[in-house]
Amino acid sequence: MAERVIPLVDQRFAALAAAVPAQAVPATGLLSDTLGRPLRDLRISVTDRCNFRCSYCMPKEVFDKDYPYLPHSALLTFEEITRVARQFVAHGVRKIRLTGGEPLLRKNIEILVEQLAALKTVDGLPLDLTLTTNGSLLARKAKSLKAAGLQRVTVSLDGLDDAVFRSMNDVDFPVAEVLAGIEAAREAGLGPIKVNMVVKRGTNEHEILPMARHFKGTDIVLRFIEYMDVGATNGWRMDEVLPSAEVVKLINAELPLVQLDPSARGETAERWGYADGGGEIGVISSVTQAFCGDCNRARLSTEGQLYLCLFATQGHDLRSLVRGNASDEELASAIGNIWHGRADRYSQLRSSMEPDTGKGARRVEMSYIGG
Ligand code: SAM
Ligand code: SF4
Ligand code: SF4
Repeated sequence: MAERVIPLVDQRFAALAAAVPAQAVPATGLLSDTLGRPLRDLRISVTDRCNFRCSYCMPKEVFDKDYPYLPHSALLTFEEITRVARQFVAHGVRKIRLTGGEPLLRKNIEILVEQLAALKTVDGLPLDLTLTTNGSLLARKAKSLKAAGLQRVTVSLDGLDDAVFRSMNDVDFPVAEVLAGIEAAREAGLGPIKVNMVVKRGTNEHEILPMARHFKGTDIVLRFIEYMDVGATNGWRMDEVLPSAEVVKLINAELPLVQLDPSARGETAERWGYADGGGEIGVISSVTQAFCGDCNRARLSTEGQLYLCLFATQGHDLRSLVRGNASDEELASAIGNIWHGRADRYSQLRSSMEPDTGKGARRVEMSYIGG
């Protein structure tokens, strides 16, 4: 059945109605797309709201009190999320990451964690179940998340200098509370913990070395992320991207590094270890070094749209199937069919594309589908 574009009243991003294909695509765990890429990693956004206003993600001027956040009825319920996730897992997903917006703002998120933690991969193993958070509520929630079955967390932190951090989150949130959240996560056993730092040239590059020194010698892996041209609201400019190669050079000059082997195919981070054995760091070069060739990630939006790429302009509406009378097999078939047709490789094509003038289809926001 061909897909058609349908206008959905409470959806701000265009969606294709996900269709059940005439020929079933059973979940065998062996799914691959048009470029031979398997489906291994599912990122689930549980809210489009956040208590921070990081300028590279939810700039205050756009995400103000009049911003049309999704109404609660539009959000997938925990039962709906788990049902969809189960079909993804049957198709070969091994890792699920909860994200947002700020996932810890979703009420009773522990219940969802518990439901997802009960799923098993096609090999009968537990899922790698993780969550990305800005850390603001982590001190309060680390224990209950662990008890619910969460394995680990990734915490975003863009600097150690309080003034720099307060200005980057743009809600004057103190760095000490995020550090306390990281400590609580460590005490609760939510490791190995990763800390993500988005590097914006001219804004926080002077925080690279202090961050490296702070986390060196701990079991926390610090990862530097190139500022990306996601969404359409952050006013991205190439000259604000600090290439990962420069980050590595800068750290290596003071704290010598050696390159490590990738931990798994499709891993986004390039790994570097401290030559003196003081742990490792990672760099995620989404802009300067495309890793689309191994991209095995799907993203499920808060309202149940499936996105095949972080830079997609269109999702596939699974919610209508979930809330219609589709069976699990039909839902799995629809997902399989969509993945079969996937050809996305935005980062590889970026340099050969015309600059985004804002006149074409609007790219989905990071806060809507998560990182
Ligand atoms: N609120 C949570 C947090 O900040 O960790 C989860 C959602 S956030 C959208 C997920 C990740 O995306 C964060 O690590 C954030 O730093 C990253 N991110 C957001 N906008 C970005 C951009 N323009 N470039 C690179 N990374 C970005
Ligand atoms: Fe919120 Fe995370 Fe986006 Fe910052 S990066 S505005 S914390 S969703
Ligand atoms: Fe995957 Fe799209 Fe990023 Fe390429 S640009 S790595 S296809 S999400």
